[in-house]
Amino acid sequence: MSKNSEKSALHETGSSPGSKNINPNSAERIRAIRKKRASEEDLTSQLLKGNKTALGRAITMVESNQPAHKEKAQALIEGALSHANKSIRIGITGVPGVGKSTFIESFGSYLIKQGKKVAVLAVDPTSSLSRGSILGDKTRMENLVREEHAFIRPSPSGESLGGVARKTRESIVLCEAAGFDVILIETVGVGQSETTVHSMTDFFLLLKLAGAGDELQGIKRGIIEMADAIVINKADGDNQKAAREAKLEFNRALQLYPSKESGWKPEVALSSALYNSGIAEVWEMISNFQKLVFKNGHFNANRHQQNKFWLLQTINEHLKNNFYQHPQIKEALAEQLEAIGNNKTTAFSAAIYLLNKYRELQKI
Ligand code: GDP
Repeated sequence: MSKNSEKSALHETGSSPGSKNINPNSAERIRAIRKKRASEEDLTSQLLKGNKTALGRAITMVESNQPAHKEKAQALIEGALSHANKSIRIGITGVPGVGKSTFIESFGSYLIKQGKKVAVLAVDPTSSLSRGSILGDKTRMENLVREEHAFIRPSPSGESLGGVARKTRESIVLCEAAGFDVILIETVGVGQSETTVHSMTDFFLLLKLAGAGDELQGIKRGIIEMADAIVINKADGDNQKAAREAKLEFNRALQLYPSKESGWKPEVALSSALYNSGIAEVWEMISNFQKLVFKNGHFNANRHQQNKFWLLQTINEHLKNNFYQHPQIKEALAEQLEAIGNNKTTAFSAAIYLLNKYRELQKI
């Protein structure tokens, strides 16, 4: 430190004679603030070093609904942002029982052997609706969990899919900042959860089972449109023939779908997560996808598009929450609903009235 800076009024000395005059309460507060800042910086630096405990704590912060935690989480994310974005984000979906956890366990272990660091996150809106979640209530991925280069986090709970989605989006950034370069995001096909996961991933993988007969029955059309790969799992034992037939049928069906913006032609593959077969082929497929979208610019364009989507989504959520949680609006909304019930107003004019009222309240 230079002589000049020591003389500067901004230079702080820990024990200047003047400090005796500071009110002990404020001194205490200053010490507490400094300590808090130091611990935040420490958490960020531990996170950037890839410390999994720090990553877990950071995600807990992101998931918390307490205002103080939200502030901390924001600082953490800002510290993490420039270190993120160096990963491939893969969405994995399929009905319960198709073998998602078994597949992720096998796929994740394979990737770690290839020198990757794998984070597994989940988006499960059912964990918010009912106590028991579809994804979280069994002992899952027992081997992967023990790997040093794996990080597994169950679905955050939230009031809405929007809340769960925001938390997962931010957790992705934290995982990437901690050096995880493959992010697997698992979901079940409940409500809009698949669309949500699709909008935060680079590659979308649909796990299927070979059934008897018509393979396409019972699949939402939108999911096939989103899928970059359809992997028919449990292609082992007596199931192998049916799996091969299902592959043919899906391949035929995919011909009927319009081509993708990414330029990628979705592929159908077979796997047996239980016996670790077909796993390397799935990774090879994703690597080919990556090469293509890096080359043609889609990778960055898509992430940019997703950021724009999430920016607007966040603003919408925020505005909506502010509106509906405003105590005076809550009251006025109840009154207007009653007035609608009594035919004293229409839904349209009640809406205009409430929006105007909200605008007025913002001016106060
Ligand atoms: P999830 O609900 O989609 O996560 O499915 P799980 O991974 O929990 O798997 C459901 C059941 O299917 C378990 O009993 C697994 O052992 C079994 N399973 C998963 N993958 C395979 C596979 O490739 N072949 C066979 N035969 N069984 C599998």
